[in-house]
Amino acid sequence: MADNTKRIAVVGGGLVGALNACYFSQRGFEVDLYERRPDIRTLEHVRGRSINLALSCRGREALKGVGMEEMVTATGIPMYARMIHNTDGTRKPILYGKKDQYIMSVDRRKLNEDLLTEAEKHPGVRLHFSHKLVSCNVDTGEMHFKDASGKDLHTRSDLIVGCDGAYSAVRQQMMKSMRFDFSQEYIPHGYMELHMPPSANGKHAMETNYLHIWPRNAYMMIALPNQDGSFTVTMFMPFEVFEAIQTEEDLMRFFKEKFPDSLPLLGEQALKETFFNNKALPMVSVKCGPYHHKDKLVIMGDAAHAMVPFYGQGMNCGFEDCLIFNDILDQTNNDFGEALKKFTAYRNVDARAMCDLAMYNYIEMRASVNSKLFLLRKKVDNFLHWLLPDRWIPLYTMVSFTRTRYHKCINGRKKQDMILERGAVLLVLGSSLFVGVCVWRGKLGDLAEKICSKALESANRLYEILPLSY
Ligand code: FAD
Repeated sequence: MADNTKRIAVVGGGLVGALNACYFSQRGFEVDLYERRPDIRTLEHVRGRSINLALSCRGREALKGVGMEEMVTATGIPMYARMIHNTDGTRKPILYGKKDQYIMSVDRRKLNEDLLTEAEKHPGVRLHFSHKLVSCNVDTGEMHFKDASGKDLHTRSDLIVGCDGAYSAVRQQMMKSMRFDFSQEYIPHGYMELHMPPSANGKHAMETNYLHIWPRNAYMMIALPNQDGSFTVTMFMPFEVFEAIQTEEDLMRFFKEKFPDSLPLLGEQALKETFFNNKALPMVSVKCGPYHHKDKLVIMGDAAHAMVPFYGQGMNCGFEDCLIFNDILDQTNNDFGEALKKFTAYRNVDARAMCDLAMYNYIEMRASVNSKLFLLRKKVDNFLHWLLPDRWIPLYTMVSFTRTRYHKCINGRKKQDMILERGAVLLVLGSSLFVGVCVWRGKLGDLAEKICSKALESANRLYEILPLSY
């Protein structure tokens, strides 16, 4: 379905912008991609966010749409389970789903580079690096860029697609120019990345196919494996805790107390250097809407829905935006006015739901995974999923291993909670009835009491796990 008459400007050549350029060029549009940074393929070091990312079903499906799934997953590392590290050095795995279900650790930089290279293969695509969007007109599609030398560029496009991240300049123009809802929330935690080198034999220093987690309630550390045998380790802690660690002694004391098994693997000297030469970075959650203006402008990815990174869905959700928009362009026969309206109507409710889920996991990952009730709830979910594979799907499975709409994932979980709640009520009523009958018939005195107290205990536990509603 080629449509060479329309020009699209993609602002932002990060993960979502680069994938969108592939989709648009595949449809035959003329595409200009403008990226503030220089071409990352030419840089020795790239400053910025996480070194590796967890890719799951939604992201993979979107990559498949431009023929890149196989290429990307060929160098990814499957992670089948969380590996929980306790302070006493013991560890236990908790599967993400069924035994063969996994999320995948992929290299952010390589993924971004491959997407840019893929986009560039299409004749209708032009990549403009070191071009920062200064302003745009949401009604006319006019844009003003500045290049690295400070030179101005004024241009216009039929459609502007803002994929310029959590602090989007395109979104800022929308806020100034139209009725636009916006809210953002910084969480009290910051993050810092550390490097765990391969062990002496060149292999990973910890079990490879896991996402390692050190949950410590107020703090958390995670580690994802890299292809070269190293792990990228990320500390998540309140900014005050980062700031309270002032000296090398403070740092060593802190690690020995909180994350003792990681210390020899990170290396004391390397840890000190990284910690004191870097700053903890903030994390922000953004909800806004509508995502479009008339037939001229739309935002996607973090520009539309930045989220805290605790569900590993930011990129996956942004990639799914591209796939969904492509489907909508099919349905509307490339009618931008119609397609943009549909995109906001369809996607806004889901992206907001995903921001909420990510915020919930902010608590679950650092605290609940330590709790017996969390594990019990996982067991109940897994058992019921085994018993009723199509009817009882655990929340994590719905989010990470299916393309169920995010808001439906939350609704599904609420229904499951209601069923468990009713089960608990029935258990209480049943045991009360049983006691009544036994007392009335004057039989089974002791035995009845024992059975009933067990039943009541189970009912109470069911009640207790209900608040873990996501
Ligand atoms: P970005 O990646 O931010 O790209 C935006 C691009 O726009 C950048 O290249 C920027 O230079 C450019 N730009 C900005 N302003 C302008 C301008 N004015 N003009 C031109 N260009 C501009 N997601 C997952 O799915 N799985 C994970 O495991 C995961 N882990 C994460 C871990 C951490 C610590 C963090 C912080 C995030 C994580 N995420 C994860 C989220 C993921 O990184 C983001 O959702 C994803 O990068 C969003 O892509 P994007 O292209 O929308 O934005």
